[in-house]
Amino acid sequence: MTDLLTKALSNLTDAALALEMPDQTDALILLTGEDARILEVVSSASYFRKKYFSNLVKLNYLVNIKSGFCQEDCSYCSQAKHSEADILRYPFIDTELLMKEVERGITSGAARICLVASGRGPTERDITKISAMVKEVKAAYPAVEICTSLGILAEEHARQLKSAGVFAYNHNLNTSSEHYSKICSTHTYQDRQETVQKAKTSGLSPCSGALFGMGESDNDIVSLAEGLYAADPESVPVNFLLPFDGTPLSGFTALTPGRCLRILSLMRFYFPNKEIRAGAGRETHLRSMQVLSLHVVNSLFVGDYLTSTGQPGEADIEMIRDAGFIPITPGGTENGTAGRPGIKSVKVESRKRGPGSKQIPNK
Ligand code: SF4
Repeated sequence: MTDLLTKALSNLTDAALALEMPDQTDALILLTGEDARILEVVSSASYFRKKYFSNLVKLNYLVNIKSGFCQEDCSYCSQAKHSEADILRYPFIDTELLMKEVERGITSGAARICLVASGRGPTERDITKISAMVKEVKAAYPAVEICTSLGILAEEHARQLKSAGVFAYNHNLNTSSEHYSKICSTHTYQDRQETVQKAKTSGLSPCSGALFGMGESDNDIVSLAEGLYAADPESVPVNFLLPFDGTPLSGFTALTPGRCLRILSLMRFYFPNKEIRAGAGRETHLRSMQVLSLHVVNSLFVGDYLTSTGQPGEADIEMIRDAGFIPITPGGTENGTAGRPGIKSVKVESRKRGPGSKQIPNK
């Protein structure tokens, strides 16, 4: 007799093949699966990752162009108005520093540069400043994709960004409409939906995803996935909560590597042919299972996050290459400068602790 998970994966696969929205019951069964069967889930989702993206991985590099001082109260955010998190806070960086950052990102293999500014949304002055920054970056690196993430956006501002050379606009729905008021009181889920639509109608590639691990239920996850499906983004970042000290969610943990992999796999069934990006919290929550996520997602951030550190870019490239995946350039071809696969030289360290020594052994 076919068990529930096998049947659900088969149904989810059929829906994704037809590019149809998954059935809620199947989605909920996937989310409640046991860790011991995670390979079955990842393997089913990986079919679509391979079908649409082969073994290519897009790297994205975040530049936090303005940090902290936000007047919104998103409870997960270290930059929110009540946050006492120990983070770097600064006004807009200047163009010289921006160009150094962009160069660092491109040297690390990034095909997309994401310029992010804290705040509810940009003013006219901010848009003028950011448009000038974007023009500088495009003049130096015409092929690189630029994404901006600046908060709630007016349609006129979206058009200005587009004409300055911005390719994509990021605005995450973050959590379900039902759960939204529990994580933020200064703006609504609907505000976020509207911004994604404005970006889209202005010709910007809509990038919208989620943040998991904030106390949402499985039903919230399915509801959020359906909300994103309706918004129809071209890229979907999937973030996992980093519970900064000094924020309302300080120390809150509800994620395991298995749960993160099930969430990523579920998102692949909702978005079989879209760019899915493992975002913040990847290293912290996937831990030793990080590499499995590459069989589901086709995009990663390389380098640091907005207010937290990421693993060294070289470790990301090594993980990608070791697993048989290939970083891509903005044009979608292999990025030959971003690491090389194969055997690397090995340095062996002889044991100087444990038996035969006075040092305590490794444990
Ligand atoms: S609007 Fe953005 S920067 Fe401000 S608190 Fe919310 S997530 Fe943080």
